[in-house]
Amino acid sequence: MSESTHPGKPAVIENRLFINGEFVPSRSGKKFDLYNPATEALSASVYEADGEDVDRAVAAAKAAFPAWSELGGMQRAVYLNRWADLLEKNLAEISYLDAICMGKPAYNDAIAHYIPTIVRFFAAKAFDVTGESSLNTPDFINISLRQPFGVCGAIIPWNGPCVMLVQKAAGALITGNTLVMKSSEKAPLSCLVAARCAREAGLPAGVFNLLNGYGRPCGEAIARHLEIRKISFTGSTLTGKAIQRMAAESNLKSVTLELGGKSPLVIWDDADLAKAVPAAATSILLNTGQACFASSRIYVHQRIAPDFLDRLTSAMTAHGASGDPLARDTTRGPQADKQQFERVMSYLSLARDGHITTPLGGTRGPEPGYFIAPTILTDVPETSRLMKEEIFGPVVIVNTFHDEDEVMQKANDTEYGLYASVFTRDLGRALRAAKRLEAGTVGVNCTSPTLAFDMPFGGRYASDYWTELKSVLISL
Ligand code: NAD
Repeated sequence: MSESTHPGKPAVIENRLFINGEFVPSRSGKKFDLYNPATEALSASVYEADGEDVDRAVAAAKAAFPAWSELGGMQRAVYLNRWADLLEKNLAEISYLDAICMGKPAYNDAIAHYIPTIVRFFAAKAFDVTGESSLNTPDFINISLRQPFGVCGAIIPWNGPCVMLVQKAAGALITGNTLVMKSSEKAPLSCLVAARCAREAGLPAGVFNLLNGYGRPCGEAIARHLEIRKISFTGSTLTGKAIQRMAAESNLKSVTLELGGKSPLVIWDDADLAKAVPAAATSILLNTGQACFASSRIYVHQRIAPDFLDRLTSAMTAHGASGDPLARDTTRGPQADKQQFERVMSYLSLARDGHITTPLGGTRGPEPGYFIAPTILTDVPETSRLMKEEIFGPVVIVNTFHDEDEVMQKANDTEYGLYASVFTRDLGRALRAAKRLEAGTVGVNCTSPTLAFDMPFGGRYASDYWTELKSVLISL
């Protein structure tokens, strides 16, 4: 592996917690180590927050709340826009730090440019946070107010660290809340750059606090905290269920969950394969398959299945260059860490044990480090764990179908419902699929990562879930 000359390599890597506008060590002084998944070399040791640090951060957020929530939306937007500008200036450092702790290609980070854009999007929503009025009760004027919760909590995953950070923080802050966030133990370093930028942008102390730490004890202390009134979580379904339970058992805090996926992609026999094949390959290989909305279950019409499979095999073989995440031409890195690598390898051995046909891959990659070869599995039984569980690697399943009812039933036979797609030239069939597919986002002749900021999954309704509604009844 090459010695990095990447322009984002910092002189010093920040490893502390960000509480009350300052970088501080954890109270316990405990640290945890991060390893480069391409070389297995130590990348950094960072301070680990526990319940006491959560209490400190909550106290800072609570003290900051009155002044922050009293500011006008436009004043809060000024801070957010300054934060966005600084994030934009520091994108190279963010990409470098993600590369050395979770393997995202530093020169070809496909999503980094969204980071400042998301903050600016929320800054522009400053005036959208409004209630309603009603004259329907005689002798009354009634109004509803949308107000911030107060101190909020957020817990994010590792697969897009700063995108997740700003998506939660910008929504929470523009609506007048203050925030205590925990980054993922697999990717805390770039998040600390975002915290530094927030400080440089002049964000008042305590408005945004960021902790490095594990789910237990740090994440659990946030989920159970009695002074946190709202929690937003993105991560696995298993952890989401635990967060929901902890929120209920503590103070019934409001919970928003964004969880995993096993997204279906339906390819009809009239589909434009010149469009569908590269879209399918990109969807499963983006971020090395570590994307919540990856199209990981493909249903192709049996009439075109052999042709589609040939083309998909070629496209996935030729797709990008895998290798050292710090090398200039690398577009596909390793799995994020040993645990993720072993998780994907266990599904590959399940496929081998089940004698599943594997026209491509099925093994670890040829490189040193935690690489998995792009893999296609075919004709997988619908009841197999391979069909039901999120593999979170560059592994796609291709099954066939012959009629519409059958494929809609199979596509919807999942506990997830994040994203679903259909490729067809038949308008009626496309619209029927859009209606019948049970997913929060449906792509027609496109698939993930296609998103739109001004649609629900992009963030359009985010200010709703960072505020609570109150009715005010005014007797005339
Ligand atoms: P994870 O559930 O293991 O961890 C997510 C976060 O929760 C981490 O910060 C972790 O430390 C914390 N955590 C773990 N156990 C906890 C506990 N008991 N209490 C409190 N916090 C706890 O998920 P992950 O491996 O980091 O991320 C991958 C998952 O995230 C995948 O399932 C993926 O689909 C999902 N994801 C969803 C979206 C979305 O928008 N829907 C986006 C990205 C990732």
